[in-house]
Amino acid sequence: MDGTLVQRPDRTAMLAALERLVLAESPSFDKARCDACSDQVADLFRQRTGVSALRHRRQDRGDHLEIRIGDGAEPIVLLCHHDTVWPEGTLARLPFQVDGDRVRGPGSYDMKAGIVEAAFALEGSSPKRPVVVLSTSDEEIGSASSRALIEETARQAVAVLVLEPAASGGAIKTARKGIADFILEVEGRAAHAGVEPEKGISAIEELAQQVLALKALGDPAAGTTINVGVIDGGTRPNVVAAHARAEIDVRFTRASEAERVVGAINDLQPKLAGARLRVSGGVDRPPMERSAGTIRLAQLAQRLAGEVGFALTETSTGGGSDGNFTAAIGVATLDGLGPDGGGAHADSEHLLIASWLDRTELLRRLIEAL
Ligand SMILES: [Zn+2]
Repeated sequence: MDGTLVQRPDRTAMLAALERLVLAESPSFDKARCDACSDQVADLFRQRTGVSALRHRRQDRGDHLEIRIGDGAEPIVLLCHHDTVWPEGTLARLPFQVDGDRVRGPGSYDMKAGIVEAAFALEGSSPKRPVVVLSTSDEEIGSASSRALIEETARQAVAVLVLEPAASGGAIKTARKGIADFILEVEGRAAHAGVEPEKGISAIEELAQQVLALKALGDPAAGTTINVGVIDGGTRPNVVAAHARAEIDVRFTRASEAERVVGAINDLQPKLAGARLRVSGGVDRPPMERSAGTIRLAQLAQRLAGEVGFALTETSTGGGSDGNFTAAIGVATLDGLGPDGGGAHADSEHLLIASWLDRTELLRRLIEAL
């Protein structure tokens, strides 16, 4: 302990703010609801910091918010998203609920609690640098409409702090796998399976061999895995299948591995004479590699957590976030600064209040120390 006073954020006010955000359901594909939720986010930051949000309008996705506190170059960027994976009406089944140290509710842990944490950490803090908060509306669907804004904002920054939830147990995330998605379509030739099967080219048989070839491209020891998660094809048992199709998810820890696997998938060759392949897709998120800048940020956060009174561990994850984009352009990025809890994207979603309050104080100190 360094003897400075440890402030305790206002639990009641934070819970009330979180309830308002959770009650504003915001599925990524529903622009009207995402916009209504972003109104709530803008209100929250106006109340806590006195600053009005700038709205980056989008036609077919929810608007993104930018809250800029202080002027000048080299800001600290706080990255949040207010969209969730939950369809409208989920609250009827999974209501907002406070139960001892636990809060439940769709999108509470991932990551409306992180937005509240940012607003309360900024209230009354005295950063040496400008702070820019981004709250985007399409993180859960790949961030196509916010990526350029995120990268452009991060390029100027000394550090990016991502308010995604902590890993279970409270660890911050210093590395994330990158993600590539592909669709492989196979074209064969239909024929009667009884009368003249030799005239057919089975797209299913071709795809079956390609699935095994894809699997062989993985290198789990290097952190590269390939999952063929969906296949379909054919029409009837007595017809040689003319079409088949697979959906493929690729994860990798290093950009060099992404290059290797993406190259190999684009180069796939048919195994059966006459079959044709068509590949579409590519890298959605580059990997967040554990850079020197990120390590320095993590060490600073660990020291400050000690001052607040808790031990902060670090980990890596196979899941992606918008932190992947900012790390990939070379900006020191620390992720998982939101609360401890669990069940992201599942009915068991919850956060732990004590951890949430601790991390709000940690975030305030981080912003002041940078
Ligand atoms: Zn999230």
